[in-house]
Amino acid sequence: MLADAHAHISDYSEEGLSLALGRAKAKGVEMVVGLGADVETSRRTVSLAKGRPMVYAAVGFHPWFLKGPFTDRDLEDIRALAKEEKVSFIGEIGLDINRNADRFEEQKRIFAQHLDLAKELDLPINVHCRGADRELLELMERQGMPRRGGVAHSYSGGAQLLQAYLDLGFYISIGRGGLRIDPETEKVVKAVPPERLLLETDSSAASSRQENAYEPASVSIIAENVARVRGVSPGELGDVTTANLKKLMRIQ
Ligand SMILES: [Zn+2]
Repeated sequence: MLADAHAHISDYSEEGLSLALGRAKAKGVEMVVGLGADVETSRRTVSLAKGRPMVYAAVGFHPWFLKGPFTDRDLEDIRALAKEEKVSFIGEIGLDINRNADRFEEQKRIFAQHLDLAKELDLPINVHCRGADRELLELMERQGMPRRGGVAHSYSGGAQLLQAYLDLGFYISIGRGGLRIDPETEKVVKAVPPERLLLETDSSAASSRQENAYEPASVSIIAENVARVRGVSPGELGDVTTANLKKLMRIQ
């Protein structure tokens, strides 16, 4: 079986999501984690997860979504949503030097607040990091990882920083980089210990409407490519990565 550890589902219509999940099931996908990126998308993701057995939710504030100021009220809303049924992660949270770089100090503060929230509610985190790996690792080392660990989503820290992420307790999730594996991704894909490897699409309703639809079902393509590089069968890789995600989420 397969699991998509990171997808954006909030933009789908109810029907559109049901159809996409049907196509995913047909490819052997048994679970999908939907990520919020601000209060509104987190709320929508929680609501879509209810009544859909294969869908789980994550709630949090993504650095790209910093439009106005991030307020105490926003944090309270995320806290309330995090207590809802099927919420399995605080995410998508993180640091990104390529967008809203002028608000990088604020990004760090918001990330730190979410980290505290994950600890308070005993949830793992689902983390986005682009071009700011050293700052993220430094912040994590200073503040400490939540007890239940987390996911380095669409990991882009390269082979060099991999050990630092693993030492902190991160699972390493291979995303779009697994569609066409370049030499640096290949190094990472080979080096991640099997018990820390996850697969994801980071897809959205918009990507599902592309000519070559990219959606939760596409995790099967990533699984095939990653399995080839690691020299295992796609079935075995799917089972291992699905079991890893379930262990992290405490699902039997
Ligand atoms: Zn994402």
